[in-house]
Amino acid sequence: ALQGMPQAPGLLPVTPSERLGIGRIRLESQLREALAGRGLELGLQPLLDVDRNQVAGYEALVRWNHPERGPISPAEFVALAEETSLIVPVGEYVMDAACEAVAALVRAGHGSPFVAVNVSARQLGHPGLVERIVARADAARLPRGSLKLEITESQALDYTLVGEVISLCHGHGIKVALDDFGTGYSHLAHLHRLDFDVLKVDQAFSRHMLADPRAMSVVEAIVQLGRALSAEIVVEGIETPAQLEVLRRLGCQFAQGYLIGRPRLLQEILAAA
Ligand code: C2E
Ligand code: MG
Ligand code: MG
Ligand code: MG
Repeated sequence: ALQGMPQAPGLLPVTPSERLGIGRIRLESQLREALAGRGLELGLQPLLDVDRNQVAGYEALVRWNHPERGPISPAEFVALAEETSLIVPVGEYVMDAACEAVAALVRAGHGSPFVAVNVSARQLGHPGLVERIVARADAARLPRGSLKLEITESQALDYTLVGEVISLCHGHGIKVALDDFGTGYSHLAHLHRLDFDVLKVDQAFSRHMLADPRAMSVVEAIVQLGRALSAEIVVEGIETPAQLEVLRRLGCQFAQGYLIGRPRLLQEILAAA
């Protein structure tokens, strides 16, 4: 009942605003200003097609350039945005910028990359989510097949809603990924009835797979699970050539991580080519 109402920070569990040492209300109003002005930016991180050894697409990762704090990671402010419903306009900013960025890459001769956009549990319930991204893609003249949505597992996820969003996306030719696979809350119980196109293996597994045979076995098993469910597999957090070699050996389709490339602004990608 108190949702959206001002509360004394001391009454809340540790929140992003507390971690950042900024009052929640102040942070919220600064995020509103960022949305209205040019405070948010879009990072694009490449995904490597492991077989072809070329960039196949990008994940859109939002950045907040805070006037006093410098860049703030979405890990810090997405939770705040979710609590305050600001996640809806933040998500719209990301979808719009992502579609425009990919259209610009296509125009600049970067092939026809896909773009994957993160959506949080809170956004899923917002009517018009899928229609909006479809409208943006059409406006940017992108084939709908170049869009993916990434849904992160969390306790807040309503699986009926997820199922509806997946069918809606499939109706428009949009693929849906289950993000941070393996770290969340009982994914497996829902996997058989949710038709995810992509499983994204969290970096928690790739980080340890070379040193720890058990972590390696888990990655191997997830790759096989993906194959059995006809889902593509992306492994996140690939930082070394040895890790990439493992993915090649396992027959995993996509690799993402600092070895392939860090998130960069569109202008940086265009300038580097
Ligand atoms: P995610 O979707 O799992 O994104 C991957 C995160 O891992 C990104 O952090 C990325 O920069 C980082 N990363 C990529 N490669 C490597 C690597 O090789 N090593 C390490 N150590 N890290 C790597 P980032 O950008 O801070 O995003 C954090 C999370 O915030 C994302 O996790 C995603 O869940 C959420 N997020 C990001 N953008 C959005 C957005 O536009 N909307 C929503 N709702 N959530 C977003
Ligand atoms: Mg993601
Ligand atoms: Mg992830
Ligand atoms: Mg992750």
